[in-house]
Amino acid sequence: MADVIICGLGAMGSAAAYYLARRGRRVVGLEQFHPVHDRGSSHGETRMIRQSYAEHPSYVPLVTRAYELWDALEKETGKTGLLTRTGGLYVGPLESDGVAGALRSAKEHNLPHEMLDANEIRRRFPPMNPDPEFVGFYEVNTGFVRCEDAIRTFLDGAARSGADLHFHEKLTGWEARDGVVRVTTERGAYEAEHLILAPGAWAPEIAHFPRSGALRAERRVMYWMRPQQGIDPFRIGSFPCYTWELGGPDFLYGFPSSDNVSVKVALMNAGAPCNPDQPERNVTPDEVKKIQSFLGSRIAGLDGECLRAVTCMYTVTPDKHFVLGPHPHHPNVSVAMGFSGHGFKFACVVGEILTDLAVNGETAHTIDLFDPRRLSA
Ligand SMILES: Cc1cc2nc3c(=O)[nH]c(=O)nc-3n(C[C@H](O)[C@H](O)[C@H](O)COP(=O)(O)OP(=O)(O)OC[C@H]3O[C@@H](n4cnc5c(N)ncnc54)[C@H](O)[C@@H]3O)c2cc1C
Repeated sequence: MADVIICGLGAMGSAAAYYLARRGRRVVGLEQFHPVHDRGSSHGETRMIRQSYAEHPSYVPLVTRAYELWDALEKETGKTGLLTRTGGLYVGPLESDGVAGALRSAKEHNLPHEMLDANEIRRRFPPMNPDPEFVGFYEVNTGFVRCEDAIRTFLDGAARSGADLHFHEKLTGWEARDGVVRVTTERGAYEAEHLILAPGAWAPEIAHFPRSGALRAERRVMYWMRPQQGIDPFRIGSFPCYTWELGGPDFLYGFPSSDNVSVKVALMNAGAPCNPDQPERNVTPDEVKKIQSFLGSRIAGLDGECLRAVTCMYTVTPDKHFVLGPHPHHPNVSVAMGFSGHGFKFACVVGEILTDLAVNGETAHTIDLFDPRRLSA
């Protein structure tokens, strides 16, 4: 019998496998697709990491730990370039969620930051053209994690520490009784003391939460644009990661060039519910036109040729906060789901938390905001 079975070896499951195996646990990992695939939530080269967390100050200690763990992962594995610090700018009205939320977290946790007015934004980052009344919250610690590289590093490290990782093997059912979890897959059956459910967009079919609609898979698109005036103003060191308020629930965000050819941009909230087994992976010309129209007046030169557009999935909760902790009805099952489009940066610390829960039944990290019971009542 294994100590821990992990369902899903994407961002969260691969991190849990890594930290559990390093703590000497016997791990069986189950993944329905091949390693580092592009059919879930964790592909597309880069994921932003920011410290002055606009969504809620409770995320700050976790993201601070995540920075430490990403740096440590590079040292432990010899893999470089997983985390790149680029600086980050959140552009919008002073009272907007992105700017006011970041300020609140920065003040509460005493984090380094600068406030820039629209002229200063234009001076420092010439392609940017904010409305005159917009401000920018700038923090030096923002950057990005190379997502496929990070997952590959976790999987390789877990396997080196003895984890038994099964790919192309879908979990089809689970039950937890008398201190043992029993899992069935398309190929067999397994038992362990603890089960971790980290199924990404497939959470609604696997979590067994009674409240329907608690978790919803949604489609998103990432775009790689070719800057019309050349790549130089968009290189790391010249251009930051950024978010940009658009006046509604949606906002634009993007990165400096990570390949010195293209510049990645996306919209945060504009998405439609999807079936994770059959999401619409085709990106329409209208979708490309829409992002070009948002970019046009705001970031000079990015509204030209779209080199590539790729879909991805969010798993969204009603309050957009994560679902992380013991399963409401089964103490020896832990869940890590509902990351609502902002989970990747935390994958390492989520792996650490899941390891704590599987090994000790509790964690020293504060995860009250993510209590799974709020979705099962
Ligand atoms: C376009 C886009 C942009 C994003 N940008 C950011 C960002 O800038 N910063 C940030 O922090 N976050 C960002 N996110 C969110 C972040 O990427 C996700 O929160 C994170 O990747 C979720 O990881 P996961 O492990 O839950 O899901 P996944 O990585 O998708 O892993 C779940 C895995 O479970 C497997 N699985 C499911 N069911 C079964 C089963 N029954 N049996 C076996 N295997 C199963 C799936 O195949 C999959 O591999 C973004 C997401 C998208 C889509």
